[in-house]
Amino acid sequence: EILSNQIAAGEVVERPASVVKELVENSIDANATQIIIEIVNGGKSLIRVSDNGIGLLRDDALLSIERYATSKIFNKEDLFSISTMGFRGEALPSIASVSKFILVTRTTDSDIGTKIDIAGGKILNVSDAGAPVGTMVEVKQLFFNTPARKKFLKSNTTETSHIADAVSGMALGNPHVQFRLFLNHKLQKSFSLSDDLFQRSVRILGRDVAGKLCPLEFADEFVRIQGYCSNPSVTRRSSSKIFLFVNNRLVYDRGLIAAIFQGYKGRIMKGNFPLGVFFVEIAFDQVDVNVHPSKKEIRFFNSKPVYQAMSETIDRALSCAQD
Ligand code: ADP
Ligand code: MG
Repeated sequence: EILSNQIAAGEVVERPASVVKELVENSIDANATQIIIEIVNGGKSLIRVSDNGIGLLRDDALLSIERYATSKIFNKEDLFSISTMGFRGEALPSIASVSKFILVTRTTDSDIGTKIDIAGGKILNVSDAGAPVGTMVEVKQLFFNTPARKKFLKSNTTETSHIADAVSGMALGNPHVQFRLFLNHKLQKSFSLSDDLFQRSVRILGRDVAGKLCPLEFADEFVRIQGYCSNPSVTRRSSSKIFLFVNNRLVYDRGLIAAIFQGYKGRIMKGNFPLGVFFVEIAFDQVDVNVHPSKKEIRFFNSKPVYQAMSETIDRALSCAQD
């Protein structure tokens, strides 16, 4: 069991940023409105995510660290009606199998919380704990028991920047949630509730784009597109400032990135990328999110009209901006 969790961890937990993403998605699924992320040494020493969500009762907390015990997929149809960020029920067990892991949680109705201590997938202790309503997950010494994987971690700076990007992405996708990111005990980023999508976009894409963002808005009966894309004068050498959401899930989809490019129609040079925040909304049964355990890849059942809508929406937005 520990071994199969470790194997699953190889797919779900590639690096500290993937842990942060899984934990924050859980907080969002738990209806948290405030999420605090604390990182020490690029997440290699400590990743702690605390939320004010609904919390877990003790039995449910114990189930949450058992693989698939909380899977929301019971049949094939379920796969296409997924509205929560998580659904596979394997992130917590995977993370707990390759770290020193503590979960502290309390629901509104409980007088006292529950604390579960795990090391390398083994439960060491379960106890009562005084705690605020919500959940705190602490992940220490990631990959301490899988040295081969630990070796693949990059410098603290690199791992930290992956974490910061992941947090930025989730802050964009969830403007109704307050985020605070602490790096080595210092507050590094704070997204409050008064920042709307535009303000969060400017902060994340860079101050230099403030006056150079074109709003995107399109809707037909099949797909809806919203967001902001940069004026062609603002480009980067990588696609790292393209934030792509499908049904509010931060995804990577080559086809969509190509479609975005297509929308710029020769307005930017090859090798350069625009910046932007792109939200695609489509019926849940039109997209498969269970392509990979990391849930970053998706598959549209009918991708052509989505890509076409994206290109045309961008093209139109940029043409207007020029007039
Ligand atoms: P999944 O998100 O795919 O369901 P996870 O392993 O990420 O699987 O989490 C397992 C379960 O633990 C969740 O389904 C949820 O019930 C519970 N859980 C995890 N994190 C939290 C949290 N921050 N607050 C409340 N419940 C949580
Ligand atoms: Mg999850």
